[in-house]
Amino acid sequence: PLPVEQPEKIVLNLEALYDHPDPDLEHVAKLARSIQQRRGDYNGRILSIRADDLYTLAVIYSTTPSGLIEKLEDFGVLVHDLQAFFATEE
Ligand code: C2E
Ligand code: C2E
Ligand code: C2E
Repeated sequence: PLPVEQPEKIVLNLEALYDHPDPDLEHVAKLARSIQQRRGDYNGRILSIRADDLYTLAVIYSTTPSGLIEKLEDFGVLVHDLQAFFATEE
């Protein structure tokens, strides 16, 4: 198991992200697609992103990384509990 002090990973729910109608999520979706391409990671339903990329995105949205996390939270595109996510969606 992971050590408790490790910061929570930023994990995107790709279906929720790509299907979301709000144009405000466009930059996040664009980055996610680009990361999938660079990793060759096309089949996943979720995508773990770098803390660095969150920082860059926050600049684009004129907010802070924690502000952006809140925003993504409100849009319902974050996954917190991977076990629960895979359990409920199967
Ligand atoms: P890179 O940064 O030189 O990383 C080379 C390989 O190291 C990656 O190949 C991956 O296998 C591994 N790697 C690097 N950092 C991490 C990490 O934090 N966690 C894990 N699990 N593995 C890591 P991969 O995945 O095929 O990516 C190829 C290149 O695509 C990367 O080269 C990087 O330039 C870019 N890339 C991939 N994912 C991201 C991302 O989330 N953000 C950014 N900015 N670039 C990414
Ligand atoms: P984890 O990082 O907590 O990820 C749990 C599961 O979520 C993964 O199971 C995978 O099904 C999914 N997942 C997480 N991030 C991504 C993503 O960016 N893309 C896709 N397509 N799926 C993702 P999996 O693959 O069986 O891995 C189990 C655990 O093994 C991972 O837990 C991680 O701790 C470790 N692991 C797997 N692959 C790598 C890797 O390339 N590098 C590192 N450092 N750890 C890895
Ligand atoms: P992770 O693989 O569990 O890695 C956790 C943290 O360990 C990363 O947080 C990063 O700080 C460090 N780390 C792991 N591998 C490397 C590496 O090869 N080089 C460097 N410089 N640092 C490394 P970070 O960057 O916030 O990434 C969070 C998660 O995003 C990673 O969790 C992984 O699931 C995913 N990820 C990030 N970059 C890549 C990548 O290039 N390829 C793939 N496949 N996954 C990545």
